[in-house]
Amino acid sequence: MPVKKIQKRLFGTNGVRGVVGKDLTPELVLVIGQSLGSMRKGRIAVGRDTRTSGEMFVRALKAGLLSVGCDVVDCGILPTPALQYIVKGGYAAGAMITASHNPPEYNGVKIIEPDGTEMGDEETIKLEEKIFNRAFSVEPWDRTGNETQGPELLTNYITAITGSFSGKPGTGMTVVVDPGSGPACLTTPRILTDLGCRVLTINGIMDGTFPGRLPEPSVDGLKNCAALVTGSAAAFGVAHDGDADRAVFIDEKGRFVEENLQFALIARYICRQKQGIVVTPVSTGQIAEDIIKANHSSVEYTPVGSIYVARTMRSLIDQGKPVIFGGEGNGGLIFPEHQFCRDGGMTAAMMVSLLASTGKKLSELVDELPPRTIIKEKIVTQKGAEIIGSLKNAYSSLKTDETDGVKIFRNGSWALIRTSGTEPIVRVIIDSPSPVDGQAFHAEIMNSIRKVIG
Ligand code: MG
Repeated sequence: MPVKKIQKRLFGTNGVRGVVGKDLTPELVLVIGQSLGSMRKGRIAVGRDTRTSGEMFVRALKAGLLSVGCDVVDCGILPTPALQYIVKGGYAAGAMITASHNPPEYNGVKIIEPDGTEMGDEETIKLEEKIFNRAFSVEPWDRTGNETQGPELLTNYITAITGSFSGKPGTGMTVVVDPGSGPACLTTPRILTDLGCRVLTINGIMDGTFPGRLPEPSVDGLKNCAALVTGSAAAFGVAHDGDADRAVFIDEKGRFVEENLQFALIARYICRQKQGIVVTPVSTGQIAEDIIKANHSSVEYTPVGSIYVARTMRSLIDQGKPVIFGGEGNGGLIFPEHQFCRDGGMTAAMMVSLLASTGKKLSELVDELPPRTIIKEKIVTQKGAEIIGSLKNAYSSLKTDETDGVKIFRNGSWALIRTSGTEPIVRVIIDSPSPVDGQAFHAEIMNSIRKVIG
């Protein structure tokens, strides 16, 4: 059975997020710390990304945790997957101050479970109840927690990644790393250097004002990175989002590698070494499933959100199933032998290993993939449920899937229509083997949606 989404009040798909001082205040973060600490008593690891408000929030978070009697290990600035790796080494929980890919004025909190995964829906709802009801008690003077620092823990994360590869697969390879002034400044250049690469960086100094580009690694934002790739004859460029759980790539010709193609290439690389199950949301491009099946492996689909992918991977493995890979078509990839969360540093390292093994250029690998047409739409409306209901009726004669919203299959194409968990938005994705079919399907779906919106 696929996991089902549950609606939460405060937390979105990846934690609490908001504009600093407006939606996200130190008072709220203090209460989040107190609530988390009363739910997961013990030693808690905390960290943050490079945002200017990070120091303020991490102090509020720590005060909350200490006040309810938890001990705190402050890991400082580091990528979210690094904190997740540290937490699974023996903590009651972790909390990361980050707003991931959001603009600089945002910040947020991600809660990490003892196994290193992000907190699931059911536990998050319990946490929200504690937050709303202030259901915790502050400890007396002689039972408040202690704080220690753990700067050396980051090295364990880096060596866990480099130790996953034999030898130095990056020898002779020049790679451009664009950490976007985020915490991956401390990790990805070191990881790739340790793998033998010659590393050049851009936006490689940590800065919460993000002077070079926004935390979302967009095609536009990566123009300078692409220019450095072509200018330095690098094998590829890799760029991260604001907390480095995602990685996206620029090929040696300076072209952005669409994230679904990246997912498909890395899935194929893994399936060729080992067959099994790949877990991914229903929104991931069809190209991935086609390639995975052609390499004698299978796909298990989940609702959209990395947490559903990670939890499904865990639950399949608990059932004794061979899960080999997972992740999303947005550059967030999960390597289960390493850990059950998206990891941008590991993704960058995997690309080095992939290219070393094929002896081909990244552009050649991308261009060899069969072309597909992907059309994406975002519609602002409160009528999400109505729209999905009406599409289910209209296309009831076709094969559909209701893992998240409705996915309608027709002649090798599909359309996915789903509501956002956090905003009044309907998202549409069309994925088709031909531009003509894709555009026709798109026009048809949009017409049906317009009829409902009126
Ligand atoms: Mg992120």
